Amino acid sequence: MKLHEYQAKRVFADAGIPTPDAELADTVTAATEAGDQIGYPVAVKAQVHVGGRGKAGGIKMASNSEDIEHVADDILGMDLKGYTVDQLLVEEAVDFVDELYVGITLDRSQSRPVAMVSTEGGVDIEQVSEETPDAIVREPIDPAFGLQPYQARRAVYGAGVDRDIAGDVASVLTTLYDLYEARDASAIEINPVMVTADRQIVAADAVMNLDEDALFRQSELAQMAEAAYDDDLEAMAGDYGFDYVRLSGNVGIIGNGAGLVMTTLDLVDHFGGSPANFLDIGGGAKAERVGNALEVVFSDENVEAVVFNIFGGITRGDEVAMGINEALSEFDELPKPLVVRLAGTNAAEGMDILNADLVDVESTLEGAVKQAVDSANEVAR
Ligand code: GDP
Ligand code: MN
Repeated sequence: MKLHEYQAKRVFADAGIPTPDAELADTVTAATEAGDQIGYPVAVKAQVHVGGRGKAGGIKMASNSEDIEHVADDILGMDLKGYTVDQLLVEEAVDFVDELYVGITLDRSQSRPVAMVSTEGGVDIEQVSEETPDAIVREPIDPAFGLQPYQARRAVYGAGVDRDIAGDVASVLTTLYDLYEARDASAIEINPVMVTADRQIVAADAVMNLDEDALFRQSELAQMAEAAYDDDLEAMAGDYGFDYVRLSGNVGIIGNGAGLVMTTLDLVDHFGGSPANFLDIGGGAKAERVGNALEVVFSDENVEAVVFNIFGGITRGDEVAMGINEALSEFDELPKPLVVRLAGTNAAEGMDILNADLVDVESTLEGAVKQAVDSANEVAR
């Protein structure tokens, strides 16, 4: 579960990390009032759960009241990678000379958290990570001992952070690790940490993702995260008990089992499509569950075609097919094409039963994915 930038910044600020003066606004008037009060120039920033807001036009500077009216009006209601912007963070603009990157995440390959520091902060850290991985210094952390002061210094100096601010950056890194640990985060990141001309450092952006399985003992953050769950579809899917992640593409994906769903996502990508979501309906495929899953995926207005990839194991293919048919009986016509691929126990019996008037039945995974991608791309063209 992800916090919004403004929420993560509150958590960081409470822990002593310097953040710019800021106010949240959900109307043009409120944004203008916030700008007037903070003093210009300000940065106006879309509060949606997507990275790269700057490049996508979701962050703009405003230099006076008139300016902020236009900027706020432009960004409010904007569609950013499938999310509608309904909240803005109006923030004191930072006059910066340098942008750094600091973060803590879980390194699954090493089974431990890792602290990361780079002087190549800013908007392109993913590119830095791919093209010049050495520009990001990684310091694995033994969870039994936490991030030791010498490790924080080693990471910061190793990355080549200027000496006069190195102590401050190391202390931010230490605070981030303390938060990561104490607040059950799964990833925490500041990109960029801005360095001002008078050598102060400020957290200009903030990412804090939470471990959902630990929310029961993080009630304050759980409430924040709930408020941050402004995506109706994610909320709906959550209510139905699905593991669902909304993505920005147009091919809806439903499957049983996380691995199967991930494979389907990869194949959609492989065949030139773009996944609209991850949805794992879990074990079994009773009509009600199938119906709920279809409701979630068809409610996503980006979706142009859906691939339903199901593996009959303990739940036999013919039972699954009956569940699908029953769910489909609610529809005279499907809103978007649905391709079903059934494999595993009693798959052949299942495919015979499936209502072929409403769905495309494919026996191979590749065939099913290709079919859905082609339908979606046809519409997009
Ligand atoms: P992201 O694109 O979603 O990661 O959003 P960020 O908050 O990281 O902002 C992206 C970029 O916008 C930063 O790297 C800066 O270059 C610019 N930016 C953000 N806030 C400010 C600000 O207060 N002042 C100035 N000059 N630029 C800013
Ligand atoms: Mn950023």
